[in-house]
Amino acid sequence: MISPVLTHLINHFSMRILVISDIHANLTALEAVLTDAGTIEGVWCMGDLVGYGPDPNEVIALIRKLPGLVCLLGNHDAAALMHIDTESFNPEARMALDWTRHALSLESVIFLQNLSELAELEQVTLVHGSPRQPVWEYLLDTRTATLNFGFFDTHYCFVGHTHLPVLYYFADEALVAKLVIPDPMMCLSLTPRAILNPGSVGQPRDRDPRAAYAIYDTAKSTWEYRRVTYEIPAVQERMASAGLPERHIQRLSTGW
Ligand code: ZN
Repeated sequence: MISPVLTHLINHFSMRILVISDIHANLTALEAVLTDAGTIEGVWCMGDLVGYGPDPNEVIALIRKLPGLVCLLGNHDAAALMHIDTESFNPEARMALDWTRHALSLESVIFLQNLSELAELEQVTLVHGSPRQPVWEYLLDTRTATLNFGFFDTHYCFVGHTHLPVLYYFADEALVAKLVIPDPMMCLSLTPRAILNPGSVGQPRDRDPRAAYAIYDTAKSTWEYRRVTYEIPAVQERMASAGLPERHIQRLSTGW
């Protein structure tokens, strides 16, 4: 049995959690993030492990070995499992998805099948899209974000899906949430409540091609937002060899 003193110490033990999302089968970007993050005690991943990129099985194999992993289901993961039809995808996205479905190993499919749509970890809710619609809704504006604060009870909600690093919070007694786009390498002190997006590891869309991620400190309640360069041409070469769409190859260079 744990003594009360020891419990107290455990509760205040600071944990560095690597927060990632939208890796999109880009192994080189994921490896760069893991190296840059340094020592971490856990990894929280908000999904979209596959789709667009050339390394779906390699990304899943690496992710599943990470310490303290909590991983959620993204819309591209769900689509790769054929849980949904792809009519709403544009032709290039559909082509990339067909390639992914054929490339996925049985082990990878089983791993994706076991991912859940929502997780609650003490003071943090994790989803891919939004707490209101965990897999599909995009939080792209303050109106949608404001309405979504009514759909989780924890201090914070971590999301992905838009590939844009942002923070939504309420200032004083304001009725509408504010949006903050942090500067890279900024360390934010969090106060309840907030919705946070670390950006995308494997396919950034904020015109910064570097891989995006965050480090969340559970005891200090800090959010360190970071960017790291990786060897983009190596990924583009693998995409070209796989016959993936040219536009998806090119956009990695511009981060759009
Ligand atoms: Zn995505």
